[in-house]
Amino acid sequence: MSDLRELYQEVILDHNKRPRNFRAIAPPSQKAEGYNPLCGDRITVYLRLNGDVIEDVAFEGSGCAISKASASLMTDALKGRTIGDADSLFAEFHHMVTAPADAAVETGRLNKLAVFAGVREYPVRVKCASLAWHTLRAALEAKHDVVSTE
Ligand code: ZN
Repeated sequence: MSDLRELYQEVILDHNKRPRNFRAIAPPSQKAEGYNPLCGDRITVYLRLNGDVIEDVAFEGSGCAISKASASLMTDALKGRTIGDADSLFAEFHHMVTAPADAAVETGRLNKLAVFAGVREYPVRVKCASLAWHTLRAALEAKHDVVSTE
């Protein structure tokens, strides 16, 4: 288990140092901003949808290693997937990070996202790991036909 832990830590550190899809999409079809006041993590998630398919997803922001690595791995996992896939991955991810610390880890289709299983031992870190996903949810729910009055 400690080998697995080390591997998980390495993946998180790597994605923190070299986050994937760390950029804006201009213009995005949808975007949303997220903030985790417990840690100070801030993120903007950008989406370009083609019908039901997430053609491109990217993020910008600043925060701790967990929040950044989570956004990086999330964007990697979601590119080319459908909104339905994103919803079920979010459900699985959420289930994993909020499960009791002594429960078996059900990684299901999470693949690399399973590296965040360790955060359930640290309730504050659960917010860091989930921030990108909640922000994605908000971006998906944002109507792209709404124009700003500003
Ligand atoms: Zn954080």
